[in-house]
This record gives sequence, C-alpha cells and structure tokens, in this order.
Amino acid sequence: MARKIVVIGSGAAGMTAASSARATDKEAEITVFTEEEYVSYSPCAIPFVLEGKIKDFQSIVMHDPAFYRNERNIDVRVKTKVASVDSEAKTVTLEDGSSIPYDSLILATGGTVFVPPIEGADLPGVFKVRFINDGMMIQEAMKTCKTVVVAGGGVIGLEIAVALKHAGLKVIVAEMFPQVIPRICDADMAAKVQSELEREGVEFLMGKPLGAIKGSGKVESVIVGDKEYKCDMVIMATGVRANLQIPNQLGFEIGPLGAVHVTSTLQPYRRGRVVKDVYLAGDVVMCENAAAPGPTMSQLGATAVRQGRVAGINAAGGYATFPAVLSAWISQVGEIQIAGTGLSKGLADYYGLQVVEGCAEGLSRARYYPGGTEVIVKLLAEKESRRIVGAQILGREDINGKINWLTAAIMKGVTVDEFVSSFENAYCPPTSMVRDVVCVAAENLMRKL
Ligand SMILES: Cc1cc2nc3c(=O)[nH]c(=O)nc-3n(C[C@H](O)[C@H](O)[C@H](O)COP(=O)(O)OP(=O)(O)OC[C@H]3O[C@@H](n4cnc5c(N)ncnc54)[C@H](O)[C@@H]3O)c2cc1C
Repeated sequence: MARKIVVIGSGAAGMTAASSARATDKEAEITVFTEEEYVSYSPCAIPFVLEGKIKDFQSIVMHDPAFYRNERNIDVRVKTKVASVDSEAKTVTLEDGSSIPYDSLILATGGTVFVPPIEGADLPGVFKVRFINDGMMIQEAMKTCKTVVVAGGGVIGLEIAVALKHAGLKVIVAEMFPQVIPRICDADMAAKVQSELEREGVEFLMGKPLGAIKGSGKVESVIVGDKEYKCDMVIMATGVRANLQIPNQLGFEIGPLGAVHVTSTLQPYRRGRVVKDVYLAGDVVMCENAAAPGPTMSQLGATAVRQGRVAGINAAGGYATFPAVLSAWISQVGEIQIAGTGLSKGLADYYGLQVVEGCAEGLSRARYYPGGTEVIVKLLAEKESRRIVGAQILGREDINGKINWLTAAIMKGVTVDEFVSSFENAYCPPTSMVRDVVCVAAENLMRKL
C-alpha cells in the first residue's frame, strides 16, 4: 500500500517537504492542505514587488497546484484549513468535517505577524505583511495613500519602508528599540543602515513603541510617545509568532522561545517522549543555536527550505537530520546590502558569551579598479575559546559570498587564528581586494584578543 503523507502548510517549508517526500518515495500519496490561495511563492519578494523592481505578484509565484499535480503527483488543496489532527487515529479533520487518514504528517504551519494589542490595530488601513495576499492588499491601498507608518524597524520593516519610499510615499518607521534591526545587528552597523535610509528620505521615530492608531472608520494618525503623526496607512512589521494552534491541540512541547521543540529529525515531543510519524519544519519550529549553547528562532525562508527537505525525507521513510543553525541573513535596503551570521553583541550577551570584536573597512574591488564600493566587516570572537561566533557585513555589492564564507567557518568552530592562517580567498581586481576586507577584519580581531 502506498504511504499516505499529509502536509499542512504550503509555505517554503511545506512545499519543500512535499517535493522532497516525493523524491524519496515515488509511490507515496502526498496531499498538501493550505489556507492560502497561492502556493510556491516567495514572501521574501513582496517588498520588491511593492517597490516596482519585480513586475507584479504573479511573477513571484513559481508553480501552481496544477504543476504539482501533473509534474510531481502531489495533490495541493488550496483554501482548505485543517481544523484539527488526531495523532492516535492518524487523521486530519478539515473545517467541513471530513477526515483524511495519514501514515506520516508534516506540520509546516509557519507563523503569523504579532500585532501589539493597541487601540486601532483593527482599523481599515492597517496591514500585516506575511503572505502574498497581504502584499496585494498593500499594493491596492498604496494607490490612494500618501503617508505610511511602518511599525517595526527590523529587516522586513526596513525593506518595506524603502520600497514604499521609492514608490513615492512619505514613510515613517516607528521602532520601539533605540536602533534598527535590533537583536541580530549591532548598534554601530544599524546606525549606518538608518542614516542611509534617512538620506533616501525615510523618517524614523526611535525608542518608543507605537502607542495607538487613531481614526474614525479608517487610519488617520498614529500616536508614538506623546506625539501624534498623520498617516493613512500602517504596516505592521512587528515580528512573527509561531502558529501553535495544531501543536497545542496535540499537546506538543513548546520551547522557551514560543515555538515547537523538536528532535534533530524534526519530530516533536509530548510529555517527554518523541511523537512518531509527525515532523515539523519552518517558522513553527524552535532551533538550536550553532554558535552558542541554547535555543534560537531562525524565522528565515532559507532555514524553512532546509528543514522542509529533512522533514520530507523522514516522513517518506528516509533518514535525515537537521543541525543547529547560525541563521545567516542578508537584506537589500535601498542601495545597501546588510548581512549577518551567528551572534551579534546583543545575542552574545543574551547567551552569556564574552566576545571581542574586530572590524575593517575596504572596497568591493581592487583599489585601482573603477566602480568599487565601501565594504565594512565586523567579526566577533568568543574571548576564551577564540572561536569566531558572529559576523556582520555592510556593502553595496556581492556581500553574499563573504557572509556564506564566514558562516561556513563559524559552523566548523574555526578560531580567528585558524581563519587568518588557513582560510584562502579567491581574488581578481574587479571582484575583491587582494587582502579581502574579511581577512583584514580577522587580523584586526586576532590582535585584539
Ligand atoms: C516580507 C518578507 C520578507 C522576507 N524576506 C526573507 C529573506 O529575504 N530571506 C529569508 O530567508 N527569509 C525571509 N522572510 C522569512 C520567510 O519568508 C519565512 O521564514 C518563511 O516563509 C517561513 O516559511 P514557512 O513555510 O515556515 O511558513 P509560512 O510561509 O508562514 O507558511 C505557513 C503555511 O501554513 C498554512 N497553514 C497554517 N495553518 C494551517 C491550517 N490549520 N490549515 C491549513 N493550512 C495552514 C498557511 O496557509 C501557510 O501556507 C521574509 C518574510 C517576509 C514576510
């Protein structure tokens, strides 16, 4: 009998899991249930559609359910919410009351935007940004909007802010912390990002939370601190919380960061025991940190895809494990690229690690080669072990390779001394300096330890 695999969720985790289950078991009956209308799109592209860099929302949808049916023999049921799961009877029950049996279940229910419980949060003109439909609604509202307040100055908030600025709106970012990209980026690097966006005309209200949204029947202003700011749209980029309705209903253990605690095979625990035949992937899962002892929330599409692969293989009878993560991230905000991996100083502090930093500034190309742009690299090493535990890079071109290079080094527990002595760098004048800025930052760090 063919194995029945049910996947709940059609985001990066769910669709990758379904495809990797198919690659593992050619005969399995695979069904994906999703509340969404569109599947197989990248939410990461939403800001760039709003900015006009990508033509339209249709362009970011890579495949439709017919593709999965015809090319991968996967049955994708859109606009179909799973109401509950019975892990003893091994069935999922849909909202219409029908039940579907499974042999293996993959929960990839993702997360939802956390909306602070403030006055006016449900007014027309207040949007979240998570799914493609959110993007479409924001795009429609932009046609009549003049001023937008983006609540939250994290990476997503900044990408949205600069996109809407470039689309011609007046944009104000309200961030409750004193710096943008809090938690994962150090204050000095974050300040450079903020001043770049200020040069582009984005305004910032720092260090005070959004207190209320005012308006009669629609958004008219926001209160931040003791001041009122006129606006006609508010976009909530206020963080993501794991979608725990089904995990809670099943009694799965929730970790200290508010997402499901899983084994390295991505199976949940219930009352201290591993639950058989259920796998989880994506934003619903809590990860282990590879640079420090303790849990972390990755909340990245890149992580969701890697976990989806593991969950899909295991659900289809194969064997794969998911390791601890560094959650390497990168963002393009306006003209600049900012990236990080492993720990920031704030995160090192959270995990109780003493770190020393080494920085360097240089160019993206050889000094004499035309068109080079500034690159700033910051490395953090744990004082005692001399291991590199974190990196942040700011530049205008091609910083992706540098952050991935450092991610590999940190993942392998490389000390700054080993990095300086043995880590090679490829070089050609149009692509980098002969002593790459990363190498110079590592040498500076070694001298300070
Ligand atoms: C604007 C934006 C930009 C981003 N940029 C980046 C980036 O540049 N790089 C990066 O790595 N990450 C980025 N991310 C984060 C990344 O998009 C997420 O981490 C990733 O999409 C999470 O995927 P997921 O499959 O876990 O969850 P989700 O995408 O949240 O999918 C969850 C799915 O579960 C379904 N679902 C939930 N409950 C049920 C139910 N009961 N029944 C049926 N279906 C259900 C939902 O309909 C949905 O399809 C960005 C996110 C946003 C919003």
